[in-house]
Amino acid sequence: MNHFPIFLNTAGRRIVLSGGGDAAQAKLRLLMKTTANLTVIAPDADAQIKAWANAGKLTLIERTMEPGDTLCAALFYAADEDAAEDKRTAAIAHADGALVNIVDNLADSQFITPAIVDRDPVTIAIGTEGAAPVLARAIKADLEEKLPTGLGTLAAIGKAFRKAADALPFGRPRRDFWRDYYFNAGPRAMADGVEAIQPALDALLSDHLMRDTRQGHVAFVGAGPGDPELLTLKARKALDEADVVIYDRLISPEILELARREATMIDVGKEAFGPSTPQDVINALIVEHGLKGAQVVRLKSGDATVFGRLDEEIDAVTDANISWNIVPGITSASAAVASIGQSLTKRGRNSSVRFLTGHDMKGFADHDWKALAQTGEVAAIYMGKKSARFIQGRLLMHGIDPATPVTVIENASRRDQRVLSTTVSDMEPTISNAGLDGPALTFIGLAPRAAQNALSGLPPHTQPMHPVAQSDTARKVL
Ligand code: SAH
Repeated sequence: MNHFPIFLNTAGRRIVLSGGGDAAQAKLRLLMKTTANLTVIAPDADAQIKAWANAGKLTLIERTMEPGDTLCAALFYAADEDAAEDKRTAAIAHADGALVNIVDNLADSQFITPAIVDRDPVTIAIGTEGAAPVLARAIKADLEEKLPTGLGTLAAIGKAFRKAADALPFGRPRRDFWRDYYFNAGPRAMADGVEAIQPALDALLSDHLMRDTRQGHVAFVGAGPGDPELLTLKARKALDEADVVIYDRLISPEILELARREATMIDVGKEAFGPSTPQDVINALIVEHGLKGAQVVRLKSGDATVFGRLDEEIDAVTDANISWNIVPGITSASAAVASIGQSLTKRGRNSSVRFLTGHDMKGFADHDWKALAQTGEVAAIYMGKKSARFIQGRLLMHGIDPATPVTVIENASRRDQRVLSTTVSDMEPTISNAGLDGPALTFIGLAPRAAQNALSGLPPHTQPMHPVAQSDTARKVL
């Protein structure tokens, strides 16, 4: 760490800046947030800076800088937008004993200005030692989004309330109170005006003081198809607050990483046709933790409401009188169809789409094969690898055009995503021969849109690991 971050008390200190153009303006916007005495030295300052001077926000000296101008200054910024002038003014400031920053010149600067997230009095400074300003800006944008804009006001009022809140037992109850204040009650009260915050704090404290035992809660959260960037903000928040996370086999490690560090992680991985945790054991686990007062996240792949046995779990939780909610996720059909550049529905082709399961509790699942065999129909088949031959047989038996496209997307949205493009007549043995070992979604009635185009439009991490096998037929394994 070459640059050590500190928070400098600027109250009543002098900060001097040389320059009167855009670079100067950008720095001044930031510096005007402080309580420093600002002096700008510029022979030809632009109108905005003059207006700030007229408004009493800074002192403007309309000439070039001279020795002594920076006496007693804590900081000096050279923003002359001219390397030779920057060098001259920086040398003067240096001799006068001020710490020097030269705009856009990391090497000759004694300090640098970080990217700042301002929720005064909460201030977050982000630095990359000048190595990656783009990264600093991205982190800043991320934090800006996460921190409610009124956080500063909430923090200032909250600070004065700390003593009162100490009436709550130390640890979890106190943490819960403050979390509730900053992320629920506080922002809600603020929407009614700043004056509403104090009464809300009082009410919240008596509410928390009355809670002898914490109520458990179960959030049924859709984790999406695997790419952590496809998590919803709500899902992230739930993971961030969870005491217990009960998750399935298909949840990717990157997503599990996002759970609160202290959370208890329970794997109830369910393997199709393989060993699995029986559903009633899973139900009992969820209920057990909910009754203990835990914030439970039941994390399911894709969308929790699609082929997830969600209702059985909801019934168990409801019977135990535990509160619950559902956080929707991106189902794998959505991720899979995006990866081949197609739509699930299309005017003039299909005005409905079916989500089918390849197998159910009784074995291979039966469906309305006659309807599915119609030209233009689109079906997304979940858990369809093992039943591919059965599905092929049923569709052909009901008169489907054997040339109807079939596309299998394995590991949709993940780094190891693969796309297999075939037809009903060839889907077996093509699917069996492809050696798919990840979760796969099969589309009947959809082919990748102009395969090469769709591929080059994909973000790098979703490109298939296996290069496109060039072949002289239209059907190829991508
Ligand atoms: N609730 C999930 C589906 C659970 S059933 C959802 O909404 O997606 C499990 C099946 O989902 C798998 O057998 C597979 O068909 C499909 N699936 C889940 N994740 C997938 C992925 N990343 N790529 C392709 N298919 C996936």
